[in-house]
Amino acid sequence: MEQLDTQSERIQGDLRGLLAGEIRCDVLYCQLFAGDGSIYEVRPVGVVQPRNVADVATTIRYAAEKNLAVHARGAGTGTTGGCLGSGLVLDFSRHFHRILESGDDWTRVQAGVVRERLNYHLQRQGRQCVADPTDREVGTVGGALAVNAAGSFWPKSGSMSRHVRRMQVVLADGKLMEAGREPLRQGVSDDPDPRKRDLVNSLASLLRSHREVIERHRTRCAVDSCGYRLEDILRDDVLDLAGLLVGSEGTLGVVTEATLATQPLPRHRGVALLLFDSIDKAIRSATCIAARQPNACDLLDRRHLSLARQTDIRFDVLVPRQAEAALVVEHEGEREGEVEEQVEALVEEIRHSRHLAFGSLQAFDSGEMELFWRLTHSIQPSARRLGGSARPVPVLDDIAVPVESLSDFLVRCQNLFKRHEVTVSLSAHAIQGQIRFQPFLNLARPADVAKMRKIAE
Ligand SMILES: Cc1cc2nc3c(=O)[nH]c(=O)nc-3n(C[C@H](O)[C@H](O)[C@H](O)COP(=O)(O)OP(=O)(O)OC[C@H]3O[C@@H](n4cnc5c(N)ncnc54)[C@H](O)[C@@H]3O)c2cc1C
Repeated sequence: MEQLDTQSERIQGDLRGLLAGEIRCDVLYCQLFAGDGSIYEVRPVGVVQPRNVADVATTIRYAAEKNLAVHARGAGTGTTGGCLGSGLVLDFSRHFHRILESGDDWTRVQAGVVRERLNYHLQRQGRQCVADPTDREVGTVGGALAVNAAGSFWPKSGSMSRHVRRMQVVLADGKLMEAGREPLRQGVSDDPDPRKRDLVNSLASLLRSHREVIERHRTRCAVDSCGYRLEDILRDDVLDLAGLLVGSEGTLGVVTEATLATQPLPRHRGVALLLFDSIDKAIRSATCIAARQPNACDLLDRRHLSLARQTDIRFDVLVPRQAEAALVVEHEGEREGEVEEQVEALVEEIRHSRHLAFGSLQAFDSGEMELFWRLTHSIQPSARRLGGSARPVPVLDDIAVPVESLSDFLVRCQNLFKRHEVTVSLSAHAIQGQIRFQPFLNLARPADVAKMRKIAE
């Protein structure tokens, strides 16, 4: 049995008697929580696995008393190290995974529920909650709310903020609060909970007095998770408190439960895979495709496609080697035949009328559609198993670019990568201008670390 140092022993001893869940401070166990989907590594002093909301509140109060940071953690798939830190990790994946209740168009879940499991559950009622094939296999509801996650299906579903109705959060002083769209009468809240009333009223007055500066800094990007969401949350008769908490990465409160809107499953779906001999043609095509209002439109570059071929032999057949870029586009429809018409019209325009794509494939069968979508996320994590010392490194993820600047931005980035002699794979949610570059680097080599810093700056 490992010996604990004095601080760890004290924390473990203090919290063990107070929690229904577990507290572990041994180095080996804490090391398991030192990493996530990012390149960073920070070992926490302890890991709490709360069994109930009281455990969350107790941990937060204790941490405040002892001057320790608290790091909420879902599945740990984030690529920015958001759930890492040297304080106490609150791990929601262990016990907070209950789907509590569902109504006609909503569902109430605990924060650690995995989004894929939630959608599997909702499928039986013919519904879904924010369909997205990118991270949902393991990502949790709490993690998605904390980062206001938006993925391939943003054109149809938007980001998480569009789907949240209420959230239960534990605040920095350990108090529990329900947050939703808070009603205002003549601009003022008369909520019976004095703590919440004060919070809503002071927040509303802060937003009013800084209205001009908030408006001036409104983002030009379709998707932008930087900072707090201050725009559009205050109206004369309502303050969208849940809207503010979404995307705040646990800094304003720790999410324990959420009520989310659900949508009917699409009756019919169809996916087109379009192949291009230049990335510029693919970007121009994405602009035309946006007008057709697809559910999703992802862009992949030559390097990403070649990695996909190396990781799954089926892509060798699907994607010819001369493809410099590809778009994966999905449509849905109510009527049988409607989706086929939409996908065929899209292919007709991009390939035959505008002569932008040199090849195309269409899928209407669920297995084939799944395969096309697999192409967009096959690079992670299987690429890590490839030979050679350089690996795709997730340091330039989810860069938000105004769509009209996408082409220029990519050219400038490509020049930068060339200058630093770094091979980079690219995938992007093309319609919303959300880009993911993965430079191939060996972070054991100081020269590559220096390159990474230069590129990131
Ligand atoms: C291959 C791949 C593709 C991805 N694609 C996308 C994408 O398209 N769009 C996108 O937005 N993200 C994407 N991500 C990033 C990430 O997977 C998602 O943001 C995911 O929603 C994070 O969920 P998680 O449960 O893993 O959260 P974690 O990684 O555990 O945590 C993420 C953040 O949320 C906070 N947090 C977690 N739980 C709570 C809680 N209960 N209360 C308060 N704060 C909490 C953490 O402190 C941290 O700041 C991708 C990641 C990978 C590896």
